[in-house]
Amino acid sequence: MKCRVLTVKEESDILVVQFEDSPFRSAAGGQPCDFGTIKTKTFEGKVTEVLFNNLVEVKSIKGTLESGDVDCEIDQDRRKLLSRMHTAEHIFFKALEKELKDLELVKINLNEDLSYLFVKAKDLTWDNLIKAEEVANQVIKDSKPIKEFKIKKSDILKYPELRIKEEKILDDKVRVIEIKDYDKSACSGTHCKNTSEVGNLLISKFKSAGNGKFEIVFTLDVLEEMYKFANVARLASGILGVEVDKLPSILKNTRQEVESYKKLVRHQKLDMNEELLGDIKLLHNSFVGVEKKELINGADKLLDEKTVLLFQNSAKKPQVLLFVSKDLVLDANEMIAKVVENFGGKGGGKKDFAMCSIEKDEDKVLEFVKGMINS
Ligand SMILES: [Zn+2]
Repeated sequence: MKCRVLTVKEESDILVVQFEDSPFRSAAGGQPCDFGTIKTKTFEGKVTEVLFNNLVEVKSIKGTLESGDVDCEIDQDRRKLLSRMHTAEHIFFKALEKELKDLELVKINLNEDLSYLFVKAKDLTWDNLIKAEEVANQVIKDSKPIKEFKIKKSDILKYPELRIKEEKILDDKVRVIEIKDYDKSACSGTHCKNTSEVGNLLISKFKSAGNGKFEIVFTLDVLEEMYKFANVARLASGILGVEVDKLPSILKNTRQEVESYKKLVRHQKLDMNEELLGDIKLLHNSFVGVEKKELINGADKLLDEKTVLLFQNSAKKPQVLLFVSKDLVLDANEMIAKVVENFGGKGGGKKDFAMCSIEKDEDKVLEFVKGMINS
């Protein structure tokens, strides 16, 4: 394509080229700018950025660029892919909007491989996304024609179903992209002529971005991605020993069970074994996975006159907590130091309370503590 260059300015290692009428599109509506090449008999360069007002940034490969006629070639494969991504975004967003009435579009970031959609909604789950994805893929299969036309900004009230961010339209004309019997959206990007050109669409990731915002990642030509997902499902089904289609319900149950166990552990009654060693009362017991905080709170209620309190707790590393009533000459900190010396681990504390983790022989700690009290 022959185009006319008016001026060329060199800025560090980039050429800023002023076209009379640039064939390269600038970024718009979440769609990145065109790439391509500019050639003359004596020059070759690559487009790296397209600015507004027909300004294009070019990286020189060889020769010197001067004003006059040049050959421009747009990277059509890339533009085609971005057009498909962009069309997919229109189709999917509309589908999700049908699913969630309070949905709001925050930002679009289209790329050649993965594209990002940022939305706002009260709640958004995989259930919603999967339903919207199904609708979107059906619209793609239905081969709906897509056309563009312009309307006057003052006429937008005549199109109540038009998706538009009015404040972003600076022109008095609005470019509308219409997917037949499905969606009308104000947009300045490039799109397919028919929904079937999109291929197929997969939501590959989604996460909350805080404040009611969500990030949705989608991709096209999904075969490779599908195998990755299938592998995750198949490996998980192997680990759990259940059919792939049972995984969601099994995991939901497992999660509920874990939550109820956690609750149970949190409310474990601190039942203690009691032994008299001379005139000292030793209260001791072992627990599994109890929060340290629970044990420390529980100690208050259990500590009596002339009492030593020994909690052992099996967590990632076994823990030993030792409380000594203030009327005793025993020193919890010194006793814990001896425990660490004999059983490994680390810890410390004060005269009335000290704690440590240990490395070995969990089952011998009680006898060891008794020995220290007796001596
Ligand atoms: Zn668009």
